[in-house]
Amino acid sequence: MAQNWTPESWRSKPILQVPDYPDQEVLAKTEERLASYPPLVFAGEARQLRDRLADVANGNGFLLQGGDCAESFAEHGADNIRDFFRVFLQMAVVLTFGAQQPVVKVGRIAGQFAKPRSSNVERQGDVELPSYRGDIINGIEFDEQSRIPDPQRQVMAYRQSAATLNLLRAFAQGGYANLENVHQWMLGFVKDSPQAERYRALADRISETMDFMRAVGITAENHARLRETEFFTSHEALLLGYEQALTRTDSTSGDWYGTSGHMIWIGDRTRQPDHAHVEYCRGIKNPLGLKCGPSMEPDGLLELLDLLNPANEPGRLTLIARFGHDKVADHLPNLIRAVEREGKKVVWSCDPMHGNTITLNSYKTRPFERVLSEVESFFQIHRAEGTHPGGIHVEMTGKNVTECTGGARTVTAEDLSDRYHTHCDPRLNADQALELAFLVAELLKG
Ligand code: PEP
Ligand code: MN
Repeated sequence: MAQNWTPESWRSKPILQVPDYPDQEVLAKTEERLASYPPLVFAGEARQLRDRLADVANGNGFLLQGGDCAESFAEHGADNIRDFFRVFLQMAVVLTFGAQQPVVKVGRIAGQFAKPRSSNVERQGDVELPSYRGDIINGIEFDEQSRIPDPQRQVMAYRQSAATLNLLRAFAQGGYANLENVHQWMLGFVKDSPQAERYRALADRISETMDFMRAVGITAENHARLRETEFFTSHEALLLGYEQALTRTDSTSGDWYGTSGHMIWIGDRTRQPDHAHVEYCRGIKNPLGLKCGPSMEPDGLLELLDLLNPANEPGRLTLIARFGHDKVADHLPNLIRAVEREGKKVVWSCDPMHGNTITLNSYKTRPFERVLSEVESFFQIHRAEGTHPGGIHVEMTGKNVTECTGGARTVTAEDLSDRYHTHCDPRLNADQALELAFLVAELLKG
C-alpha cells in the first residue's frame, strides 16, 4: 500500500487544470452520488492488463492504444463505437503479424472526456469565454452558459462510459471480433487503397496463414482465441474528483483501484511530482501511463518512476513519448539511457500526435508524414539503444473525417473544412489509421 495515501490525499496538493465549478456544494453532492454507483471496470481486469503490459515491458508484445482525443455526448451512437472498434481490430491484426508478438489493445474510450487546455480562455472576435474542457466538464458551444462547468455532466459521462463499455464487451466477446471477420475487413481496405500494391504482400501472407490454420482445423468455431478478443479501456485521469468517486478497494487483494477505466494516464501538463495528479495515481494499482514531452528531463523522469512505481513492477508504467517529429531525436535517447542505467522496467510507447500539431487555414491539424516520421524515429532510436519499441498511442476515429492532412487518399489543407468533427485535437481517419498500422508493421519486421 502506498505510504500516506488515501483516495482524497490529492486534495491537499497543488493542482493544475481544475475547472471553476460555481457551486462546490452541488459538486460534492454529485461526487458523493457517483461514489455510490457500481464500478465500470473490475480490479481483476486491470491486473490482467498489467500482466499483458508486463510482457510488453519484457520485450514480448506491442501496445496499441488509440481513440478519440475527446469523446463527446453528441457522438454517442453505436455506429461510432462499432466503426472505431472495426478499424482498431484491423490495426491490431496487421500489427500482430508485423510484430509476430501479441498486441495489447487499449482504447482511448469509455471515459476519455476531460481535456487539459493550454489557456483558460478562448477568444472569438471580441468575445472571450472560459475554455472548453471536455464534455464531462462544460459544453463546447461558444456561449457563456455552455462554458460554465456543470457537475451533472460527470453523471452523464459515467453513464455514457457504462453504455460504451457494455457495447464494447459485447463486440469483443459476442463473435463480432472474430478473426475471420477482421481479416475480411482488412482485405477490403487493402483492395480499395491507393497504396494497395504496398500492402498486398503483407495482406497475402496473413491470408495464407489463415488458410493454413483452417486447413489444420484451427477455426473460430473450435478456438475461442479466434472468436473473441481482449480489449481494455483508458483515459487521462484529469478530473480527480470523478476519479476519486470511482476509486474502490478490491475485495480480494485489499488494494485500491481506479474503476473508471482499466488504464489511466497522467498528461504532459499535470505530471509535477509534488502535485495532485501524481499523488492520486501513485496510490491506485491500475496500469498507468505517463506522457513525456520535451520538458521532461532524465532526473525528473527517474523521480516520477520512483513515485509511481517504487517496486519497479513491469506493466505498471507505460511511458508515452510525445515530442514531435523534429524533437524526438533530441530528447528520447537520454530518457531511455536514464531508465536503462537505473534498471527500470517500463513500456515505451510513441504518441506521434501531440508534438506534431500545427494550424492550417485556422484548423488545428497534423500532417500525416510528420506523424509517420516521429514513429520511424522512435523505432530507430530504440533499435540504436537496444531497447524495445513497445507501442503506439494515437488519436483516431473509424469515420472518414478530414482532420489530419496527408495519407494515401490525400487530405489537403483545403479539405480540412469538409468533415472536421473532433471535439478537441485532430484525429487520424479510418484510412490513415490503417495505413499507419501497415507502416508500423513494416518497421516491426525490422
Ligand atoms: C491527449 O492525449 O489528448 C493530451 C492532452 O496529451 P498530452 O498530455 O500529451 O498533451
Ligand atoms: Mn489530444
